[in-house]
Amino acid sequence: MVQKTEGLFEHILIHYRWIFVCLFLLPLSFVFDIWIFWRNYIVFKLNSAPSKHDDKVKNIQRQIQSWNKIQGKKPFMCTARPGWQTMSFRQGIYKDIYKKINVDLVDILHIDHEKKTVHVEPLVNMGQLTAMLNPLGWTIPIVPELDDLTVGGLVMGTGIESSSHIHGLFQHICLSYELVLADGSVVRCSPENNPDLFYGIPWSYGTLGILTSVEVTLIPAKKYIELTYLPFKSLDAMSVYLEEAVVDDRNEFVEVLIFNENESVVMIGKQTDEMDNKGFNPIGRWYKPWFFKHVQDILNRSDAKTEYIPLRDYYHRHSRSIFWELQDIIPFGNNLLFRLILGWMVPPKISLMKLTQSETTKKLYENNHIIQDMLLPMSYLKETVIFFEEQVGVYPLWICPFKLPNNPGFLHPAKSNVEIYVDVGVYGVPKVENFKPRETTRKIEKFVMDRNGFQMLYADTYMTREEFRLMFDHSLYDKLRKTYGCEEAFPEVYQKVCKEARR
Ligand SMILES: Cc1cc2nc3c(=O)[nH]c(=O)nc-3n(C[C@H](O)[C@H](O)[C@H](O)COP(=O)(O)OP(=O)(O)OC[C@H]3O[C@@H](n4cnc5c(N)ncnc54)[C@H](O)[C@@H]3O)c2cc1C
Repeated sequence: MVQKTEGLFEHILIHYRWIFVCLFLLPLSFVFDIWIFWRNYIVFKLNSAPSKHDDKVKNIQRQIQSWNKIQGKKPFMCTARPGWQTMSFRQGIYKDIYKKINVDLVDILHIDHEKKTVHVEPLVNMGQLTAMLNPLGWTIPIVPELDDLTVGGLVMGTGIESSSHIHGLFQHICLSYELVLADGSVVRCSPENNPDLFYGIPWSYGTLGILTSVEVTLIPAKKYIELTYLPFKSLDAMSVYLEEAVVDDRNEFVEVLIFNENESVVMIGKQTDEMDNKGFNPIGRWYKPWFFKHVQDILNRSDAKTEYIPLRDYYHRHSRSIFWELQDIIPFGNNLLFRLILGWMVPPKISLMKLTQSETTKKLYENNHIIQDMLLPMSYLKETVIFFEEQVGVYPLWICPFKLPNNPGFLHPAKSNVEIYVDVGVYGVPKVENFKPRETTRKIEKFVMDRNGFQMLYADTYMTREEFRLMFDHSLYDKLRKTYGCEEAFPEVYQKVCKEARR
C-alpha cells in the first residue's frame, strides 16, 4: 500500500510537473527577466558600473583578508553565489559550510574597439553579452548557447560552441584574467605575464582564487548566419563528412544532432550580411518550433537546405527548449497552440526550477535522467555513439567538434599536437531498462578515460579522486596550489565536483 502510494506520488511529480511550471515558474521567470533587463541596461547606464569595479574588488580583498587574520584561515572559501543560481542541475553541499565570499561582479566593463577586446566581470552572462555587443557590430568568437551561462563559469568550468572547431574552448578566446588570491592580493595574468597562472585557471572551478575580471577577444559580427542543414541516414557517412567539414575554412560553425543510430543532421554555417528572403528564418521568435524539432524535420528531406538566421537567434537557438530538456517537463511545449499562447514566457529559468525542487523531485530526476557532456578525440565518435546507444539510448545527442591545443593545464591532448575533439552531449531520460545512474555513469567515465577523453565538471562525477587525477593533468595545478597558498584556502576541484559534494 505504502509502495503504491509512493509510486503514484512519483508518477504525479514526474508527469504533472508542467502544471507547477506553467502556472508559477513561467510567470516568475518572466518577471525575473524583466528585473535582469532593468539591472543590466537601465541601472548599468545610470550607475556607470565600470568605475565601481575597483571598489568591488577591494570588497573581495577585505573579505579574504578577514578570513586570513580574524577567522584563522578556516573553513575553506567559495563564492557566495547560491548553488541554485548556477546552470548545473546539482548544488554544492559545500556552500552550506564554507566561508562565502560575496562577489557582486555582474557588469561589462569596457569595449576596446581598437584592440578588439571586451573586459567583463565574471557574472556577465551570454545573453547580456550578445545583447550589448551585437548591435555595436561585435561578437565573441565562441558564444556558449544558453543565455544564463556566465563568463566566470565558462572559464572556471567549460565553455564550448559550434565555432569551437576553429577557436577551441572558451578559455582559448580569453586574453587575461584578474583574480584575488588566497592572501588577499590582486593579480593579473596573461600568456606573457604569469603564464603558469593563466594556463592553470581554466577548469580550476574557483580553487585557485576568486576571479574578478576577464579580457575576451572580439570579432566583427554580421547580421545573419547562413546555415545549411545536411541530413544523413548512416553514421559512417556522417562521420566521414564531419571529418571534412571541421577542416574546411569556409565553415565558421559546425554542429551535429544525432536522432538515432543511423539518422543525423549536420549543420554548417557562416556569418553574412546578405540574405535571400526566401530562406529567412527567425528561429528565436516565441511561436517558432523548438530548434531541435525543426532540425529533426530536415530528416524528411533527401537533400540539403539553407536558411538565413538572425545572429542572436542562432547563438541562442537551443535556449527556448533548453536543448531538449524542456520536452520532459512540458511535454506539449512544442505544440503550436502552446507556443502561440505561452511561448513568449519560455523557457523557465533553470535556477528557479532548482530553487523550487523538492528533495523527492531531485532524487527522481537523479534516478531517471542523465545529463552529461563527454569530450573525446573525434576519431572515437562512431564508437561513442554506439556505446551511448547501448548504455542509455538517449536522443538527440549533441555533437560539437572542438580544437584542443596542447597548452599546459588541466586538459590537453595525449599527443603533442593540437587535436580535434568532439563534445558528445547526452541529456534526457534513458530508454534502456534498469538504468542505474552510478553504474552506468561509471562505465561511461571509464570508456571516456580509456580514450583520453574528459568529463565536463558541471555533471555528476562518480570517479574516485585517483581516477579524476588520471583524467585531468594536475601537475601545473598542484604547483599553483602550493605557490599561492590554495591548499588551506580552497578545496581541490575533485572535492567540489564529486558526487558526494553535490545534492
Ligand atoms: C542545461 C545545461 C546546458 C548547458 N549548455 C552548455 C552550452 O551550451 N555550452 C557550454 O559550453 N556549456 C554548457 N553547459 C555547461 C556549462 O558550461 C557549465 O555549467 C559552466 O560551468 C557554466 O555554468 P555557470 O555559468 O552556471 O557557472 P557556475 O556553475 O556558477 O560556475 C562553475 C564553477 O566556477 C566557479 N566560479 C564561477 N565564477 C567564479 C568566480 N568569479 N571566482 C571563482 N570561482 C568562480 C564556481 O566555483 C563554480 O563552481 C550547460 C550546462 C547545463 C546544466
